[in-house]
Amino acid sequence: MKGVLIVGAGLAGSLLALALRELDQPVTLIDSGDPDRCASQWSYGVIPGWPLGPTPLAREAARAGSLWKRLQRRHGDLGWRLSRLRRWLPLPISQVDSVVLQRQLPALLERQGVERLEGQVQALEPVDQHWSLRFRDGGERRAEQVVLAAGSGCRRLWPSLPDELRSSWAGVLALPRWPEQAGPQRLVLPSQFQRPLLERQAPGFTEPRWVVDAGLVPWGDGALLGQISWIAPGLGEGPPPELNRSESLLRQELRRSALPDGLADCSATFLQVPVAFCSDGLPLVGPVSGAPGLWCFSGFSGAFAQVPLLAPLLAQRLSGETAAEGVLRRLQVWDLARSAQG
Ligand SMILES: Cc1cc2nc3c(=O)[nH]c(=O)nc-3n(C[C@H](O)[C@H](O)[C@H](O)COP(=O)(O)OP(=O)(O)OC[C@H]3O[C@@H](n4cnc5c(N)ncnc54)[C@H](O)[C@@H]3O)c2cc1C
Repeated sequence: MKGVLIVGAGLAGSLLALALRELDQPVTLIDSGDPDRCASQWSYGVIPGWPLGPTPLAREAARAGSLWKRLQRRHGDLGWRLSRLRRWLPLPISQVDSVVLQRQLPALLERQGVERLEGQVQALEPVDQHWSLRFRDGGERRAEQVVLAAGSGCRRLWPSLPDELRSSWAGVLALPRWPEQAGPQRLVLPSQFQRPLLERQAPGFTEPRWVVDAGLVPWGDGALLGQISWIAPGLGEGPPPELNRSESLLRQELRRSALPDGLADCSATFLQVPVAFCSDGLPLVGPVSGAPGLWCFSGFSGAFAQVPLLAPLLAQRLSGETAAEGVLRRLQVWDLARSAQG
């Protein structure tokens, strides 16, 4: 079968599918449909308008707001909007409301001609110059090119992906309404997120470690409050942290934070979801070594800023435009074998 088959319809798989359709490529997007395994559905979706690090990727991703603006001009409301921080700061910042994005994506993908399939991919293997994907229900699908955009599910499908790709568990409180004590709707963020540092330290862990980032962001009619990030030793996500303990640690840290009084004890639903990341802060974007026709698009740190930049470049490369490979190399995300080379 011609065309590209993408496993995973979170932010990465969906924007890559749209970018491939822009180039008139046939695309099939497969997802398990399980919201408890999709980080994009529970994301703050915050996009800082300044570089979060000294890398070429961080510098380029700082203009992600304008890329979302362009996507919305073309496709209609995707939940992106300029925002403001709690304290007045002359820094550009924006947010994609993940409720709006998840509501709009299915119809948009359909309008753009993306074939969508629901199913849990169990295994993939090369057969007769194709990739064969086997589903949990026994079905099979073949394609010449397969992209793993399955977030924390990528390693299960291809265990020899580079060691930088790891998984964490993120827990967050979902509020049905914006809390009155927080004043008008706006982003309330910690001055420094602790999660990225935890991700960098992950290769040295001998026991699970956690941090809390005390934020509050609009999310549909409600809000997302706090984020507890757990990382276990090893490359897999490990078992989910015990739900009650995780929620109680999150609320305990929120009580100590600068958030308005009473927020930490508000009535909310606590949920946990696995999130893929790369311990060197650079996502995996490109061909999987030793597996011709198999590609990876995962491990983002700041996915809402990085994916709209990288998806069109990967789509161009998948369509045979080799110039895009040069740009991805310059952004230092192309070489999936980077750890093997030291
Ligand atoms: C509370 C929270 C706050 C966050 N805040 C921010 C933020 O402010 N800014 C930011 O940029 N990022 C943020 N993130 C991180 C961001 O949400 C993720 O990095 C991003 O959504 C990952 O997108 P993805 O498409 O790679 O993976 P996912 O969204 O996890 O999508 C992967 C998809 O693949 C599917 N899948 C997996 N395995 C299989 C299989 N075998 N067969 C079929 N389907 C499969 C899953 O069901 C899922 O739908 C946050 C995350 C959380 C949880």
